[in-house]
Amino acid sequence: MRIEADYDRCEGHGQCEERAPAIFELDDDGYLTHHYEGQDLPAELEGAGRGAVAVCPVAALRLAEGT
Ligand code: SF4
Repeated sequence: MRIEADYDRCEGHGQCEERAPAIFELDDDGYLTHHYEGQDLPAELEGAGRGAVAVCPVAALRLAEGT
């Protein structure tokens, strides 16, 4: 399972980082880093990843299953 981030849509609210700090990190200017960009998430982070996708208020995160 992967998560794709739309950086143009992201508004830096940070809910994804609160939900999944091992996957997402915001810098002081609100710019998002996705630590698993283009990679499958480790199994132990899939739950947190799904939670982050669900809480993003602007739908900037999308699940890509079956990769
Ligand atoms: S929750 Fe959504 S808008 Fe907020 S930082 Fe994460 S991806 Fe960006």
